[in-house]
Amino acid sequence: MAVTVLLVEDETSVREAVRFHLERSGYVVRACATALEGWESLAGADVVVLDWMLPDEAGIAWLRRLRDSSFAGLPVLMLTARASEMDRVEGLDAGADDYLTKPFSAAELAARVRALLRRSSGERPRGALKVGLLELNLDAGFAAFNSSELHLTRREFDLLAFLAAHPGRVYSRQELLDKVWGVDFIGGERTVDQHITQLRAHLGDEPSEPTYLETVRGKGYRMRADP
Ligand code: CA
Repeated sequence: MAVTVLLVEDETSVREAVRFHLERSGYVVRACATALEGWESLAGADVVVLDWMLPDEAGIAWLRRLRDSSFAGLPVLMLTARASEMDRVEGLDAGADDYLTKPFSAAELAARVRALLRRSSGERPRGALKVGLLELNLDAGFAAFNSSELHLTRREFDLLAFLAAHPGRVYSRQELLDKVWGVDFIGGERTVDQHITQLRAHLGDEPSEPTYLETVRGKGYRMRADP
C-alpha cells in the first residue's frame, strides 16, 4: 500500500522540490501551504514533514497540538532555517522525531523520511501491557500505576512503554535515544537519565533499589521482568 506523506510548507519552491523528490521515491504526497490546511489533511497520513515557520501558526505549536490529538503517534520530521541547539531541543521536546535544517538535499530528506517510517512501523509497541502494578495502554497513551493514572510527558510515556515492552532486556542510553527519541541526540545521554529519574518518582522506585527501572552498571537500563 502506498505511503502518504503530509507535507506542510508555505514556501512554494521548497514545497514543490520536496514533493517532486518524495513522489519520485514512490510516496503519495499531500502538500499543504498552511498550518490549517495541514491540520485538516491529517487523516490517512503516515508521516508528516512540517515547516517550523508557517504563516498562520508556528510549526512547533501545531506539533504540540498534534501530540495531544488522536494523531499523536504520527512520526514528524521538522524543517527549519534555524539551526541553533536551542531550537533543536525545543523541536524535539515538542515531539518532533527528527529535524532537518535548510538548506537540505532532497535525497537526505527522502532518506530521513524512510528511516522514520521504518522506526515507526517496526519499533513502536502496540496494545496493552502489564508489568507488576504498572499498566499501559499503548494505543491510547494511557498509563496507570496501582490503579491510579500516571500523568507523564510524551517522552516519559514512550520510554516507559519501550522498556515495558521488552522486560528484562538491557538497553544502553544511546539505544534508548535512538529507539525512543528517534534521532542522534548528540551529547544527550543525560536526557535518558533525567527521564528515568522522573519515571522512578512516578513509580515510587528507590534509585538505590528500584523495583521496576533497574540501572545495569556500565550497560544501561532495563525494566525488571518480575517486579
Ligand atoms: Ca516557512
